[in-house]
Amino acid sequence: MASVTFEGVSKRYGDVTAVDGLSLDVRDGEFMVLLGPSGCGKTTALRMVAGLEEISDGTLRIGDDVVNRVEPAQRDVSMVFQSYALYPHMTVRGNIESPLIARRYPVDGTTRKLTKVERAERVAEAARALELTPYLDRKPRALSGGQRQRVALARAIVGRPKAFLMDEPLSNLDAKLRTQTRRELVELHQRVGTTVIYVTHDQTEAMTMATRIAVMSAGRLQQAGTPEEIYTAPANQFVARFLGSPPMNCLDGKVTVEGITVGEAWFPIPTGLRTRLEEGRLVTVGVRPEHLSLDAAGTVKAQVRASEWLGHDRLVFCTLDGQDLLVRATSDPPSGVVTFAVDPANVHVFDTESGQRLT
Ligand code: ATP
Repeated sequence: MASVTFEGVSKRYGDVTAVDGLSLDVRDGEFMVLLGPSGCGKTTALRMVAGLEEISDGTLRIGDDVVNRVEPAQRDVSMVFQSYALYPHMTVRGNIESPLIARRYPVDGTTRKLTKVERAERVAEAARALELTPYLDRKPRALSGGQRQRVALARAIVGRPKAFLMDEPLSNLDAKLRTQTRRELVELHQRVGTTVIYVTHDQTEAMTMATRIAVMSAGRLQQAGTPEEIYTAPANQFVARFLGSPPMNCLDGKVTVEGITVGEAWFPIPTGLRTRLEEGRLVTVGVRPEHLSLDAAGTVKAQVRASEWLGHDRLVFCTLDGQDLLVRATSDPPSGVVTFAVDPANVHVFDTESGQRLT
């Protein structure tokens, strides 16, 4: 096991900067999710750790070792891809064993090839960890999609790498299997404790699996923190709107004596921020749809346009001073103008120009 440290790491392809000055410390044993929209540079960042892409600038460490110029095979990391290509002619046992055959491994202070008996022990252990023991003699075509994915994972853990690198490993699975495999991956990580760097654009995967999330956009790290930190205190408007479904409402407003005024409505200012926002300043106020509640004594008056029933709650589409406001409500709101309340602790304020959170 080992930490993985990016120090000002960049990757350029001609004019395109895929990763721009990334500094991130993935701690030993951590489950770090790189999250961001398509093209934000997360796969490139992962491939640089694997040694599949050269680094244009900066320093990359695995443990204490600088690996900028270390060959992929010498980095002792294991990559699981989206398409978990298995050898079709080999059994599950053969597939799991395959990475052990060619390589040398550190054993009792020396580095050597494993014996047949040692290989069999490791295969049995990996198969047990992924509940594949009953399938060891089957060929991949006789397995379900989820079982095949578990074989790919077993093949990744069998060499006991310093870190697992996973690039959207669940994206080929259907929704039900994805939820189940997500849980299995988390439990596997808890059992083996190996550092994981996991790339996805799916915020649910990030929120449910990560010990920390690194949100990226346009090649740059936007924020790194626990799922709770990122949800409750997004560093900027991009992060605020990327995490949360439906996304946070962000409305243009102005600081007044009452609070942050948007048309005829106003939002309370979070306690710590009140004395630091000068009156008249233009800001963007952010409120998650789940943090607005129907309340006649509230200060957020909005025009209801439509509502959608989702089963356990509703999405209410409103307009406020010509801007959209989305509310998650447990009951059907009356039509026309409705008043909502919001707790100041759930109000986020951003600088309108830079998009940065004001704290
Ligand atoms: P996705 O989720 O779609 O895989 P991503 O966030 O993983 O996206 P990357 O694959 O890392 O993004 O790509 C980041 C940027 O670098 C993109 O603009 C992409 O077009 C560019 N890029 C990636 N690989 C190359 C390459 N070999 N040559 C030129 N540009 C590249």
